[in-house]
Formats: sequence, C-alpha cells, structure tokens
Amino acid sequence: MRFIILFLIIAFATGRPGLAQEEMPLDGGPFDMVFTEIAPGVITGIRPYYWRTPVAGASTIIIGENEVLLFDSPGSREGVRQVVQKIRELTDKPLTFVLVSHGHDDHTRGLVALKEAYPAVKFVSHPLTREYIEDQVMARTARILERWPVFLATFKSDLESGIDSGSGEPLSEGARIDYSQTLHDADVIMADLAQSMPLSPDILIENSIVFDLGNRIVRFEHIGFGNTDSDLIAYLPGEKILLVGDIINHPIPFGFPFKPRQLVITLKVLLDYDFEILVPGHGDILYDRVFSDKVIELFIYVNWQVDEMVEQGMTYEQIQESFDWKDYAESFSGGDPVNEYLFDGWFQGPSLDRSFKERTALDEAKE
Ligand SMILES: [Zn+2]
Repeated sequence: MRFIILFLIIAFATGRPGLAQEEMPLDGGPFDMVFTEIAPGVITGIRPYYWRTPVAGASTIIIGENEVLLFDSPGSREGVRQVVQKIRELTDKPLTFVLVSHGHDDHTRGLVALKEAYPAVKFVSHPLTREYIEDQVMARTARILERWPVFLATFKSDLESGIDSGSGEPLSEGARIDYSQTLHDADVIMADLAQSMPLSPDILIENSIVFDLGNRIVRFEHIGFGNTDSDLIAYLPGEKILLVGDIINHPIPFGFPFKPRQLVITLKVLLDYDFEILVPGHGDILYDRVFSDKVIELFIYVNWQVDEMVEQGMTYEQIQESFDWKDYAESFSGGDPVNEYLFDGWFQGPSLDRSFKERTALDEAKE
C-alpha cells in the first residue's frame, strides 16, 4: 500500500524548473517526445519537460543490420505512437524485442500499444518485473483512473486556497505550476490512461542476455538492487552507451529505492562500465560522469548520516528534524524553486525514510 501511495506521489507530485507562471500552459501535449541520435542508429526519445504529469521515462531505439530493439517503452499510448512513427521513419526493419528495465507503470503502460504495432514483438524483463506487472501495475492502472477526479479536485482547491491541503503549508511555486499544468492537460492524460495497459513479459532474464542485432551488440544485465530489486540495464560495448533505467534520474534523483545501501553498491558497479554516454530513466542524456558521481555521493552521505544518528539513539522523527542536508538541495536544484520542490518530494522525504528503514531492518536481522 505504501508503495502505491508513493508511486502516486511520483506520478502526480511534479513541477517544472525555470518556468514562470505566465508561461503556462506549456506548448505541445504531455506525452510529446524529442528524439536525439546519440550514436549512429541509436536514438533516444525523452520529453522536453521531464517532470510533466504523468512522469514518463526515456525510450531508446537501437537499430542493427537485421532488426530493431527498444530499451524501455513509453508509459503511454501517445508516447508509443511517436516511438513507432520514429522507428518507421528510420528503418523498415522490424522491432523484435523490447527490453523492460523495471516494472513501474511509467515504463510499462505503453506495452499494449507496442504489441498492436508489432504483433510479433517480445518483451524481455527480470522475472520479478513480470510478477510486479501482473500483481500490481495491471490493477493499479484501473484504480488511477478512478482516483484522477479526486487528484484534480484537490489540485483545484489547493490552487484556489493557496494552501497545500496535505501539509497545511502555503502552496509552493513549484506545486502551483505543476497543478495548473496538470489541470490543463487532464483530459488528454485521462484519455490516454484509459487506453493504456502493461502486458506480461515473454522472456525472463535473471542475470544477463546478449542480443546481436546485426553488427550491433546489446547486453541486458542485472547488476544488483537498483531502483527496484529487478532492474536490468543495457550496455552497448561498441558504442560505449549505458541505458540505466531509473537507477539514475536527472536532474532530481529518486529517493524511493527501498535498499539505499545496496543501491550504492549497484551504482558503483554501474559506473565501472566503460561508457561515454549514460541515458537515465528520466531527464537529460548525460555525456560525462559528473552527475552520476554526485548521485552516489548523495546516497552515501544520507546513509552515513542516518547510521550515525541511529547509533546515537535518535528516533526517525528526531532524524527528520535535525538532518543536515548541507547544500545538496541547492546543488541539485540549481536554485530553481520547482526543482527544490521536487528534491524535497522525490528525494529528501523518501530517501530518509528508506535509509532509516533499511538500517533498522539490518539491525533487527543481526539480533
Ligand atoms: Zn520511471
């Protein structure tokens, strides 16, 4: 239950950096993608506004001499339509495999539309990802539709009152921008959600698999606990490209992973790959390691501080109150009020919760 609530927070608590309110609403639709060729025959689609509701991950089209592979599906029917159109513009080779990095809705709700466009396509994931899709995402898709009117009504009344009804605090600028944009996009979002649905993956990979698309190799690998317990990343050794799913997100890291100490180990393994381009699950394509190094440092800092405070006998509430975030919020948000709002909601709150719980569970296991 907790996870569902937090997922909904990811899906709906969003805001856009650097946007003055008079610029609202944004141009284009909420699912529109911009495609960048990051290497010859490797094309990544991301949305121009990474935060726009509902959040949606990056998709990377990989074209070999014989066939086409897609790393991560858009989470929407419209996103899939744009990806399929892009593939058909570029090549008449078939899309044969879709690599599903993890099971979260924003990467799996578009699978039904991909299957319609390419009936022979196979979806590849970790076995736990299939379990998660079948047990949780399929049911949740219907529930989200039921809850939408409630979210929208809350956004409307919070905007009118200027008070965040959840916390009782004044509504932040970031929240105002987000709520206004979401209300503007609501009909388009709901219409798409009503027709989107994940499907069960066909091929299950626990460790790794290598695809030879014809003069192009793609390794799809599980390297440890990441954003979930079943993330798979893709590595293109010839092009030195890493597609990491939601293990890394830009510009605001996700603090939601349940095992932040294990995540640090996974991040270190990840950054040991010989890569020049890293495509995060959300946000901008990264052409160096600066941001990824910063993300590891942040998780290490949070875990270390939580450990110290637990060892001093502090309760979770005391830790929350006295935690020193140093200049991390400013450093990740760049001083932008909307990014600050997201750093608070997507990182600070959940990362403290997860780090404390993981530490407590480890202590209990020792006893
Ligand atoms: Zn995601």
